[in-house]
Amino acid sequence: MGLTIYLNGQFVPEERAVVSVFDHGLLYGDGVFEGIRAYHNRVFKLAEHIDRLYESAHTIGLEIPLTRDEMTEVVLETCRRNGLKDAYIRLVVSRGRGDLGLDPRKCPEPTVFCIAASIQLYPDELYEKGLELVTVATRRNLPEACNPRVKSLNYLNNIYAKMEANLVGAPEAIMLNQEGYVAEATGDNIFIVKKGMLITPPPYVGILEGITRNAVMEIARSRGIPVEEKLFTRHDIYNADECFLTGTAAEVIPAVKLDGRIIGTGRPGKITWELIRAYRELTHVDGPVIFQEEGRCVHC
Ligand code: PMP
Repeated sequence: MGLTIYLNGQFVPEERAVVSVFDHGLLYGDGVFEGIRAYHNRVFKLAEHIDRLYESAHTIGLEIPLTRDEMTEVVLETCRRNGLKDAYIRLVVSRGRGDLGLDPRKCPEPTVFCIAASIQLYPDELYEKGLELVTVATRRNLPEACNPRVKSLNYLNNIYAKMEANLVGAPEAIMLNQEGYVAEATGDNIFIVKKGMLITPPPYVGILEGITRNAVMEIARSRGIPVEEKLFTRHDIYNADECFLTGTAAEVIPAVKLDGRIIGTGRPGKITWELIRAYRELTHVDGPVIFQEEGRCVHC
């Protein structure tokens, strides 16, 4: 059965969810998006995703024609219309239809759509064994040119890096910034653990400030694990005790090798497992409920 898609104020069947070939999201990657997950009848960290969407849009000078509350309802209603309590949700706002020139002033109306699909889970084996990563030659976008903090529709930088990882059969790539500091993976943030301390690059290094990243830092602090945002190099990953990636799709996923160098014991570490478990627990309780009648107390 096809999906029901939200497109520009209407819910339409998948085959009718079509946008113009003149849409600047398609012609120029001019737009912003979010990848969101629903777990156990709740949309996880939805407020944070909505905030980031509006911040990305503000930075690219795109005015979203819906309020944050309306956008929140769009996401929840798209899940409802598709009968989904667990989902991968894609929320997109593009510059909209314009002419063939790149001037955004020629695009009077943004295109807004939301897709809620059933989630494709990564195999458990990946979490038990951990990923083997490679550093790639493609550097992360320069913040002064195309700021990675904006979750824009222009993902070519990440795609180049992914292609390099594919060439050597690696499941993910580590990208450095222009100075050679570790930035992030193609679709995930990176953390290392050294002497009980959790370390991750600061947003100014040129990364997407991941919502999973922020949740993991909060979980760690609440459990008394010290967290530091600081610059580090590949050397620090090679010599870390533990390493993991974070992202909406992958959640918290251990990494055990980088460029052929074994990280720590070569197996997912203790702190990594503690965070994986705590993160999964959080997904049961965080975010607005999709189907209200669910969980309502019959005695109240
Ligand atoms: N970095 C990049 C480049 C991403 O595309 C993503 C999201 N897929 C992330 C990091 C992780 O962000 P989040 O935890 O918000 O999914």
